Amino acid sequence: MSKTGARRNPLFAGLVAEKWARENGIVSLPVRPKEIAESLDILVQAKSDAAAGVSGMLLRHGDAFCICYATHIRSVGFQNFSIAHELGHYLLPGHPEHIFAGGDVHASHAGFTSSDIYEAEADHFAAALLMPDFLFDAALRKVGEGLAAVEAMSRLCETSLVATAIRYAQRTSVPAAVVLSTGGRLDFCFMSKTMQEFGSMTWPRKGELLPGGVATERFVRNAANVTEGHRAQEDGDLRDWFGCRKVAMEEEVLGLGPYGKALTVITTSTFADDDAELDEDVEDCWTPRFRR
Ligand SMILES: [Zn+2]
Repeated sequence: MSKTGARRNPLFAGLVAEKWARENGIVSLPVRPKEIAESLDILVQAKSDAAAGVSGMLLRHGDAFCICYATHIRSVGFQNFSIAHELGHYLLPGHPEHIFAGGDVHASHAGFTSSDIYEAEADHFAAALLMPDFLFDAALRKVGEGLAAVEAMSRLCETSLVATAIRYAQRTSVPAAVVLSTGGRLDFCFMSKTMQEFGSMTWPRKGELLPGGVATERFVRNAANVTEGHRAQEDGDLRDWFGCRKVAMEEEVLGLGPYGKALTVITTSTFADDDAELDEDVEDCWTPRFRR
């Protein structure tokens, strides 16, 4: 089987982007995907009338390529991500063969919500290209942890809050989780490596309801909190989210505006091998908290 038949892997796509950035003279933030496209002789055009949900397109005409990016969301971060996602389709092994199999136009749904593996790979490529590890990690160390750090990195990298939060979960050294939800249901949950070390956690999945009673669940009950961009911050317990042992944590939630999405950032300074707070009521530790 050819390269196109290789097992697809979104995390590998991120590594390809970082390698590309390292080998092609990316030395500071923000990374500018439009300039990268131009350096590859790819034409870049804004498209104000993209179909609903389409973030961008990669078009082929003979040997020439063009990236169109949607402008209905007027955020530089969203537009940068859309362009970087198309660069992923252009640069990732096996992608051109796949996306152009049925014609010369590929329409994308960037933003970590598509279940298509090629879209997921292009998303991870985009996040890693715009926020390569060798620049992101050093900058992150200067801005701390939690939602404020995500917001600071989003400004520095000119990336959307959502993409930055996911990258934060991938790169931070502290136990952290980021959750995107719409109308009280999960779009996704990403956990940092040190968060996953807690083990035996219920990993919330797409479409599930938020756990009853957690700060985010109460926050989104009032839709205006979300659409008007309010925020909340509360001390909580990891157990209420993930059904693990009791661990004190901080939960921060931010309404992302008219599209009805809320971003939650959960962080704790307790690591899985800090066993000082082993709790007394172990028996109800393993109750899954998420409802279908
Ligand atoms: Zn795509």
